This record gives sequence, C-alpha cells and structure tokens, in this order.
Amino acid sequence: MTLRVLLAALLLVLPLTARAATFERCEKPEILIAEEAFAGAGAIVLVAAAQVGDTEAYNRWFGTFSRDRAEAVRTNLKAVNTALLSDEMVAVCPNLGEDGCLRDTYANVYPDQPYVINLCPNFFAQPNMTDHRPGAPELENGTREGTIIHEMSHFHVVADTDDLCYSRSECARMARRDALGAIRNADSYQYFAEDVTFYPAPRPDPGGDPLPDLPIDWPPADEPSANAPPAEVAPIDRTMLPRASDQGGAGCLSCRLAR
Ligand SMILES: [Zn+2]
Repeated sequence: MTLRVLLAALLLVLPLTARAATFERCEKPEILIAEEAFAGAGAIVLVAAAQVGDTEAYNRWFGTFSRDRAEAVRTNLKAVNTALLSDEMVAVCPNLGEDGCLRDTYANVYPDQPYVINLCPNFFAQPNMTDHRPGAPELENGTREGTIIHEMSHFHVVADTDDLCYSRSECARMARRDALGAIRNADSYQYFAEDVTFYPAPRPDPGGDPLPDLPIDWPPADEPSANAPPAEVAPIDRTMLPRASDQGGAGCLSCRLAR
C-alpha cells in the first residue's frame, strides 16, 4: 500500500473516530476548515510515525539516526495524534491583534494549557496539504495540517517541543549540527511529517544554498509591500515572540509565523 493510499484511507476513517473539538469565537466556515485540518493532521502524523527510521527524510530533519532518538521521535508523533483525538481539544479563532495573533502569526499555544490552540486569521489562508498534489510548491511555506502538528507538539504533555529554529533551511542546518536539538524542535516534526507523506521522492537538501524562489501567496493581499520573496531567501517563517523563559514563567506563546 502506498503512503498516499494509506493516507487517503486514514482520512476516511479518522474523522469518524476523532472526537469533536470545541470551538470558541469561530465562524462556521472556520470550524469546517479547522475540523478538516485536524483530521488531516491526525492522519498525516500517524503515517509519519510509521515512517521513522534511518531514512533520508529522518536524517534531514532529525540528524544522524540513533535508535533512542528515533524512538523518541516516533513517540512524540504518536502523542500528537493522541492529543488530536482528545475531547479536550479547544480551538479558538481570535481576530488579528488578539491573543498573540500578530500580523504574521499562523497559530499559537501556551504549552502548559493543553489542548487549547489559537488559530489566527493567517491560519485560514494557509494551503490545505491534502488538497494539493504531493510536492506542490504552494506547500513549501507550510500547511494547515503541518501548523497543527507543530503547535500540538509544543504542549508539555504531548512532546514538549520548543522553537529552536524556524524554516526548512534553518532546521535542516540545525539537524546536521544538533540532532538532540532537532528532536526537541517543533518545526522539525512538521517538516518530517509533511515530507514523508507528501514528498515521496528525495528532495534537494534545503540546508545548503537558499531555497529557490517559489510562488508565494503570503502575506495576505493587504500587505503588498512584503509580497515579493526577499532576494536572500532563508527563513520561510520566523519568530518574534519571547520564549517562556522571557515571560517570567507565564507560559510560552509559541507561534508559527508567516513571512
Ligand atoms: Zn512553535
């Protein structure tokens, strides 16, 4: 069974088994989008857990293979799946400027408050991974499912990840020099899950030269000045928010950010 067939089968089954999340301040269309993305993320992360091994994709995102680290990665991916099935899932849809939804934020969580996830307006403008063909360039800057995997991994009771790097290029670099850091890093799980389910062929190493220019529909159309890809492409997204340690222990607002 190919990965895509497996993924399609899981997508058919999981919505039936997943418990419904609670939604706060979300419009009906947003709820439909989020429910689809939650189900997709659950299916993708499960396929990804089964793909953990001494592979090119594993090495790219988690560095040199070791049995212990791989087991930790697999456990964390499964924990994300379990969390997505929790009936304690709460999705909040803040407006721009509210609850840490900055101009370039996709989503955020407080890691000590499972399983509340703020889905910012930018989240709904992200591409849905399962709507595109594998490897489609529009997915290069992140997907709704990937963002959910990233955010869910932050919860202390799930995988307790941090944001040690953002973007494919930075995180591929980090995996080469710091395998232990990579398995604690949220973006690494997102990219691994996206790659093993939707990029079946080996991909060019993004850690060397800058990524090629790709069609980018970020940020939203009301910010035309930032629409053009920067001449020096490196981070696909970046963080601007303080880490937990900078917030007096109040809890980390961990974010997936657009350009
Ligand atoms: Zn994060």
